[in-house]
Amino acid sequence: MITAYIAIGSNLSDPVAQAQKAIEALRQHPHIKLVNCSSLYSSTPMGPQDQPDYINAVAEIQTHLTPLELLDSTQAIELEQGRVRKAERWGPRSLDLDILLYGDQVINHERLTVPHYGMKVREFVIYPLYEIAPHLSLPDGTELQYLIKTIDRNGLSIWQA
Ligand code: ATP
Ligand code: MG
Ligand code: MG
Repeated sequence: MITAYIAIGSNLSDPVAQAQKAIEALRQHPHIKLVNCSSLYSSTPMGPQDQPDYINAVAEIQTHLTPLELLDSTQAIELEQGRVRKAERWGPRSLDLDILLYGDQVINHERLTVPHYGMKVREFVIYPLYEIAPHLSLPDGTELQYLIKTIDRNGLSIWQA
């Protein structure tokens, strides 16, 4: 079994419910074992600012799926939850599931770049990841406990009902 980390993001159609439903979909998936999940976080949007705030979380899973099979599975969950792919980059979306890490593997495929190219600079990824895996190192040897000191929270907060 490979340990992988999935970033969850939503800012449309009841983002808290979308994130919770995505976590449930990972939990129920026949080929995915949900090991742990961070708190839900509230973050301000990256890119276009004229869109609602985001809810973010990170899930730790174990799976026998290959990286591309895992991507197929996460994209299927996105589509089930009404994700519509639009031309605008970083625009609002009901659900975004990004594969952050897949074991220690470095993957450069036309459909899949792992580690996720943005993870080292995105506070809404690094803080939830640190919550569940504070001793993690990235494949290039970067230790999360040092990386996090370089990332401003940028208004990121734990979501409270
Ligand atoms: P960003 O990648 O900057 O977070 P995004 O998540 O909004 O933006 P999407 O529209 O969800 O981008 O995905 C665009 C494409 O990115 C997908 O079709 C997928 O093939 C590709 N992709 C590459 N690497 C990854 C990864 N690690 N996780 C998920 N998708 C990836
Ligand atoms: Mg994304
Ligand atoms: Mg994505």
